[in-house]
Amino acid sequence: METKLLIGGEFSTGAGAAETVLNPATGETVARVPEASDEQVDAAVRAAREAFASWSVTAPAERAGMLLALAAAVEQNAEALARLESQNCGKPYARVLEDELPAVADCFRFFAGAARCAAGSTAGEYLPRHTSMIRRDAVGVVGSIAPWNYPLMMAAWKLAPALAAGNTVVLKPSEQTPLTTLYAAKLMADIFPRGVVNVIAGRGETVGAALVDHDGVDMVSLTGDVATGRKILEAASRTLKRTHLELGGKAPVVVFDDADLDAVIEGIKTFGYYNAGQDCTAACRIYAGARIYDNFVADLAGAVSSIRLNLPGADSPDIGPLISERQRDRVASFVERAVALPHIEVATGGGRVDGNGFFYQPTVIAGARQEDEIVRREVFGPVVSVTRFDDTDTAIAWANDSDYGLASSVWTRDISRGMECAARLRYGCTWVNTHFMLVNEMPHGGLKNSGYGKDLSAYALEDYSVVRHVMVAW
Ligand code: NAD
Repeated sequence: METKLLIGGEFSTGAGAAETVLNPATGETVARVPEASDEQVDAAVRAAREAFASWSVTAPAERAGMLLALAAAVEQNAEALARLESQNCGKPYARVLEDELPAVADCFRFFAGAARCAAGSTAGEYLPRHTSMIRRDAVGVVGSIAPWNYPLMMAAWKLAPALAAGNTVVLKPSEQTPLTTLYAAKLMADIFPRGVVNVIAGRGETVGAALVDHDGVDMVSLTGDVATGRKILEAASRTLKRTHLELGGKAPVVVFDDADLDAVIEGIKTFGYYNAGQDCTAACRIYAGARIYDNFVADLAGAVSSIRLNLPGADSPDIGPLISERQRDRVASFVERAVALPHIEVATGGGRVDGNGFFYQPTVIAGARQEDEIVRREVFGPVVSVTRFDDTDTAIAWANDSDYGLASSVWTRDISRGMECAARLRYGCTWVNTHFMLVNEMPHGGLKNSGYGKDLSAYALEDYSVVRHVMVAW
């Protein structure tokens, strides 16, 4: 198992304290990963700075070739990476192998192509005999900080656009899930020039904070909690670093009376509980039309109770555990507080699963009201709330009444109503008659407390580059 840091093309053991990495499906220790010391953080940033001078002027075709090589290496190592991710996150192996790994490889491929077709304004004379042109150049050294829910995929989302745009990167995976990123570091060391990609392991408050604080870092990209986003903004303000923040979500799902209920139930069973709900776009906050509400709750509870957990020896499991005991306790406490309210009904689930793993039952909370904590706060677990609504204006007002603004969906057979809702919802993404579907060609990112900056798509390439004006007098 790879536990070493990649700094300036060399692998070294972290000189800081060792972090215990668990398999949350069994509670067993998988590895101990020593974190980077302050000196190693500094060495990684210096290596990235040194590499920037030559990497930022490589031809896009050259960068694209290396990103394509990385995509191929990910595919060649897909089974090993999927096994490791499954072990480190407790996710079903087949889900990682069939869902996440192809998306990771495709992300590197997409940005390999995008690097070569950046579009922009044409050059022109805005003063007589002075030609103006726009350049899009790399920002510099990017400090990238990833979360634990899709460790390798989040690393890919950060690395691919940053490298494609000509930046060099110091990447820190979550201290809870560093293993696939450290494995991928081996692949990247064989492909990229030394110092272009550096991988350092460690905790947020030590290694992450040192990276954000470093004068040699030009931009910080975080996917994580809102509270972490705030801390990083404060720290980054000292040196006026650029920031790119993908924070939490609490996706509203508006189900009108005319929706195809079978499709909605199947959709929420999948998109509300995928990855045990540890997904910032999870379909977790349902508003159901008054006429369908009772049938909807009963059918959803039936469907959700059939979700199979990745318990030891399980056959074709759908979802894994929570990432840690702490995260499971957090989820359980949200449900306990919700259940204490007289109007709440637990339609299915509502408890921990016995055993050494950190599993929680897929849960449907019915009768929830707009002001309830379970409707307003991000649970980040396999828990979906259902709230009854009477008219479109109320549904849209409630859906928009959130601190978050990442993802939303509307389910209706009336395409005009779907279009109207899509226009009125204040979210980075609105799906109509589906949810959760992401493609590398389209942007992913939020409004409000969900952060700003886009992952995926040509918009991410823009975020990881700067616009410059060059004027030539003649
Ligand atoms: P987290 O904020 O605790 O950790 C995220 C990363 O930030 C980790 O690598 C951590 O070590 C690091 N970190 C923590 N404190 C830091 C500090 N002071 N300075 C620098 N780095 C620091 O989040 P998490 O628990 O790993 O992930 C779950 C959260 O991420 C959820 O809230 C979820 O909604 C959010 N998320 C958002 C998206 C999105 O695209 N918007 C995607 C996935 C997850």
